[in-house]
Amino acid sequence: MSFDTIVVVDWSGAATPSPARPSADAIWIGVARHGDGPASASYHRTRDDACQSLHGLFEAEIAAGRRVLAGFDFPFAYPVGFARALTNSDDPLGLWPALAARIEDGPDNANNRFAAAAALNDLFPGLGPFWGCPSTFDDPRLPPKGTARHGHGLPERRSCEGAPGAQPCWKLYTTGSVGSQALLGIPRLQALRDAFGGTLSVRPFQTHETPITLVELFPSLIAKTVSDMAETGEIKDRAQVRILAETLRALDPATLDAMTREGDAVEGHILGLGHEAVLDQAARRALSPLTPPRLKDDCFTMPQGVDWVPVDAALDKLRAALAPITDRETLPTARAGGRVLATSVTARRSNPPRPNSAVDGYGFAHAATGPGVQRLPLVAGRAAAGQPYAHAVPEGHAIRILTGAILPDGVDTVVLEEDTATDGTTVAFDGPVKPFANTRKAGEDVTEGAEALPAGHRLRAPDLALLSALGIGAVETLRPLRIAVLSTGDELIGDPAAPARPHQIYDANRPMLLELARNWGCAAVDLGHAPDDRAEIARRLDDGAAKADLILTSGGASAGDEDHVSALLRQRANLQAWRIALKPGRPLALALWQGVPVFGLPGNPVAALVCALIFARPAVSLMSGAGWTTPLAMTVPAAFTKRKKPGRREYLRARLTPEGHAEVFKSEGSGRISSLSWATGLVELPDEAVEIAPGTPVGFLPYAGFGIT
Ligand code: AMP
Ligand code: MG
Repeated sequence: MSFDTIVVVDWSGAATPSPARPSADAIWIGVARHGDGPASASYHRTRDDACQSLHGLFEAEIAAGRRVLAGFDFPFAYPVGFARALTNSDDPLGLWPALAARIEDGPDNANNRFAAAAALNDLFPGLGPFWGCPSTFDDPRLPPKGTARHGHGLPERRSCEGAPGAQPCWKLYTTGSVGSQALLGIPRLQALRDAFGGTLSVRPFQTHETPITLVELFPSLIAKTVSDMAETGEIKDRAQVRILAETLRALDPATLDAMTREGDAVEGHILGLGHEAVLDQAARRALSPLTPPRLKDDCFTMPQGVDWVPVDAALDKLRAALAPITDRETLPTARAGGRVLATSVTARRSNPPRPNSAVDGYGFAHAATGPGVQRLPLVAGRAAAGQPYAHAVPEGHAIRILTGAILPDGVDTVVLEEDTATDGTTVAFDGPVKPFANTRKAGEDVTEGAEALPAGHRLRAPDLALLSALGIGAVETLRPLRIAVLSTGDELIGDPAAPARPHQIYDANRPMLLELARNWGCAAVDLGHAPDDRAEIARRLDDGAAKADLILTSGGASAGDEDHVSALLRQRANLQAWRIALKPGRPLALALWQGVPVFGLPGNPVAALVCALIFARPAVSLMSGAGWTTPLAMTVPAAFTKRKKPGRREYLRARLTPEGHAEVFKSEGSGRISSLSWATGLVELPDEAVEIAPGTPVGFLPYAGFGIT
């Protein structure tokens, strides 16, 4: 059963009427009807006025045979134990009349909520649970501060109230004052229940179908979307009710109905909690500006009303879905470059192991020196790296010492050779010299037993230096991830040295993706190229699943007649086709083939590379054990002009000019393979609309940051 009319109420616990001029922190009611235009929003100065308006609205909708879902942004229930204390039952709907009997709330918003809360606190031992009141309200049973409460025995929150920004229902005063909203809201809803009787139900406590259904909402669940989609200068509360009403209207009716039934029969539930991504998508779908007829040269056609997944949402899902491999291999440090550490590495030795000299010069005990010209007799011999001085240097004497030499006993300070004069028996220099000058303390770099590198770290050349210095001869690593690469398409020829007929093209994606896999420290498994033939593609995927941890295919990933990869994955591998709001990019097909993730990349080499860098790269890193990656982004001035509409992210092939500005390839044509080679990175344009002129800061993502070497 679906809802015809969505009503969203932003409630208020105010004690006086809100200003005559529409403002925030007042009551706003948003209404969106199926088959109607954009949602409307009305402003109400008092609870009385709002409830009369709701009453009239409900009657009219019932008369028109329309089913209403009305959401309110205050708790419909309290933490477990509260209802029982008042009514001897856990039923929240039994609590509603009990609260209504205690609350007085006048037509001008004047009310007794603090006194009522103080009296409610009386029902519990200790002090609380309600708290918060103006300094003028003086009743010892209602503490002004939450921390003053004790021993009342009730939980602070309901189980559904972990959401960021959610305020506890005991708090009656200042920020949020959710407590006041509930105390003044529930009695008003009870009045609606009394008035509408069997034609009104409250979910999730009641599950039967009625013309009017009430639910609890929390507009902050989609706060970011609301602020993104609000009209310029629009009052936040107005935007919230309007956009939330649009959002719920845009949801698939069965999904919305299921959401209203979720939750706890005692503590209730916030509609949509845990489904924020679904709500966000619905909001964006509902509110994205209508696009004019599609331009012919725009390959990224976006049927209106179709659900396009924002890049970040796709990445979040991908990240949550994948797990790292666990197979380990112990390797000598010198051969472990590119590998991911399976465990953290502990220094077996300090660096430096002993105090040593940082320069070539003369060493001595600082205690025997002072200001003015110092002349110290030299001991015979010297201390050099690898040639320690076997004796102690007497105080008041100096020794010739070279960089890296262990400080002999009796030496704690070194003077730089260039700052001295010597005749071979005495060394002279200007004092005072700082104690410990030009020396390195034992372990000042790394101390024995300290963590040198964490698990999940991918070893690079400098890391091999560090590990070796710390006496680590072998490391436990994860075996390299194995990535299989398959190209599909009847038109492809695998060998660029072979002759090609006019209708044939050389397979560009496979060598590119195999090399990317190697760049990423993975073992590349070549599955060749397959014609557009499901049986043959299936055979290759079987081969890939046997040999690899991840399969990258290119081509045939859309939903057309010749798109055999997506058709096959849909048939046999529970395909998740994500239409990602991305240019250049067509759908990214994701599926598990015999338990092995398959990324169905677009055939177009430009889109294939972009999708591989944006989606496969972090996924590969995560599966390799090195953790999720976000592209390295540098903000640089643009050296180009570009205007972009909202609704999808765009990546332009770009490179840095000698001045460090980002220039883009002369054509955005997605068939321009030469542009990939010309570029040294991508310019990322955000999902929102942008207008770029020379000098505008843009995000440049260097190829190097994607691990392209
Ligand atoms: P598809 O995604 O299969 O519809 O292919 C889209 C476009 O990319 C078509 O023009 C294909 O010919 C081209 N294409 C597909 N695979 C490759 C490949 N491996 N190398 C070069 N071009 C390709
Ligand atoms: Mg094809």
